[in-house]
Amino acid sequence: MINIYIGSDINLNSAVYTFEELFRYIDINFRIVNSTDDAHIIYDISINKTQSQKIIIEANFSFWKNYLEEESMPHSPLGKDESNNTYAISNDIIASAFFLLSGYEEYINTRRDRFDRFLYQYSLYKDDNLYNNPLVDTYRDSIVLLLNDNGIKCSKVNIWSDKAGIFLTHDVDGIYKYRYIIPSIIKSILKPSKFNIIELVQSKSDIEKDPYYHGFYKIIQTSLNLGFKSTFFFITNPTCKLDNFYHIHDKNIVNAINLILNYDFEVGIHGSLKSYDNDKQFLFEKSLLGKNVLGGRQHYLKYTCSRTPKIHGEHLCYDSTLGFPDMIGFRRGTCMPFKVFDLENNTTIDIFEFPLLVMDQTLKGYMNLNTSVAYQMVFEILQKVEKYHGLFTFLWHPGNCSDEWDEWFNDVYIPILKSAKSMGFQSVTGADLLSKIINKSI
Ligand SMILES: [Zn+2]
Repeated sequence: MINIYIGSDINLNSAVYTFEELFRYIDINFRIVNSTDDAHIIYDISINKTQSQKIIIEANFSFWKNYLEEESMPHSPLGKDESNNTYAISNDIIASAFFLLSGYEEYINTRRDRFDRFLYQYSLYKDDNLYNNPLVDTYRDSIVLLLNDNGIKCSKVNIWSDKAGIFLTHDVDGIYKYRYIIPSIIKSILKPSKFNIIELVQSKSDIEKDPYYHGFYKIIQTSLNLGFKSTFFFITNPTCKLDNFYHIHDKNIVNAINLILNYDFEVGIHGSLKSYDNDKQFLFEKSLLGKNVLGGRQHYLKYTCSRTPKIHGEHLCYDSTLGFPDMIGFRRGTCMPFKVFDLENNTTIDIFEFPLLVMDQTLKGYMNLNTSVAYQMVFEILQKVEKYHGLFTFLWHPGNCSDEWDEWFNDVYIPILKSAKSMGFQSVTGADLLSKIINKSI
């Protein structure tokens, strides 16, 4: 057990939260003390040089003095240390970790797209590569070094022994290429390169021949072949046109869910577009999926720091929404599961975030990559996750396994899974991961 003193000019809840997240994966406990006399670590703005026997982390005056105000935002270019690691807040490792884990930039920077989303392209720190590396995990390494250098023996806790984990997830948006007959015939006439009557007739006589529905089978079979598991998130109550691609009690959906559960895979909630800031709506949607739902992800990755964490915290054990729609990487600066901080209410929310690192549509749509560049970029993310023994959360939609996605499924999705397999990544569902965290007392 070590003692940590936090100075009175610092927001206590924010700093305690940050130490909790950094120490979540360090094999030593800490407690907060009121006096610097008993402290092993002093985190404060004004440093008393006579405390030379203590570990002193100098807090950034400007950040904490202007906490949650525009003036607290750092200016680009951000600082780097001798190892070329970027710091969000000058050389203050605690404020930097807090800045990333709490989503501080997206709370202060109010720019949003038409779906009320904070995009990577709106970040003031794109040129600093702030979200391209798991910086919080590098800060944790620095703390372990600092403690050991000062005679406090400790090491990192790995969830997966010496390996890493893979969380394969599948948001079930649309499942029918041919849903209604008349509109499908019209599409076949207007866009013959994509839709055709023969495929329509086949799909209507056997749903498993519908290319999008068939995506379920392709994904399940791929996971089974590699000894991996898949977690599927379903929309249960469409709230607008962009949600409305199927009904949860549709017999084909019920069959798909039964198939998923038969393989001991997982089913979770894919919150509709209007549920991300509406508690009643979210609760209703979850209730339609039954009692055993542990986690989920918001449709379109809609998420607002001021409302969504509180809603999720009341109804879920985990969420996996937090990746940028328009850039792969580390929206919260980490590839480790972490608890979410509610900046609006200055408190930790009792829910684990399994941060989303790569989404299929990000690669092909927003980033407009070709398949070989996409594979290479995703492989680099895999390597970063491997380095920190973290969690590689990957989203591939069942509707993106055929047609113009055929090449992507074969040249990116499957090869990445094979690479992860050969690197020793252990596959988990959300439920598996929660029980690992609980069993290891993480
Ligand atoms: Zn979706």
